[in-house]
Amino acid sequence: MPTETIFTRIVRGEAPARIVYRDDEVTAFHDISPAAPTHILIVPNKTLRTLNDAGPDDQALLGKLLLTAQRIAAEMGIAEQGYRIVINCNSQGGQSVYHLHLHLLGGRHMTWPPG
Ligand code: 5GP
Repeated sequence: MPTETIFTRIVRGEAPARIVYRDDEVTAFHDISPAAPTHILIVPNKTLRTLNDAGPDDQALLGKLLLTAQRIAAEMGIAEQGYRIVINCNSQGGQSVYHLHLHLLGGRHMTWPPG
């Protein structure tokens, strides 16, 4: 499977996206097909296909992805009411884009368990 995805192109600025945050390690942008009133994707700039591909060297990066999501949730005004962070991994996990990403979902009540 190719490692280049649409997210790789968004990170490089080669494909359009509604960017909400970017630095030299992570990029966050609005999901093109939002599943909630707030739906932001937070991705590492380096290409990791899935969570399975992260290793000990990625420990700080994984923490940064979560803290970036936390900060964006606060900035978007959904922190107090609550939100959900999702990482889909491989086919049974529902992953469709093979560049590791966190979903930040909020603005509505979430149900459990997920489908
Ligand atoms: P996954 O199913 O892999 O966990 O999530 C992939 C997400 O990427 C989906 O929610 C989908 O709507 C979103 N997505 C797919 N293609 C694009 C795109 O070109 N731009 C943006 N902003 N989001 C995309």
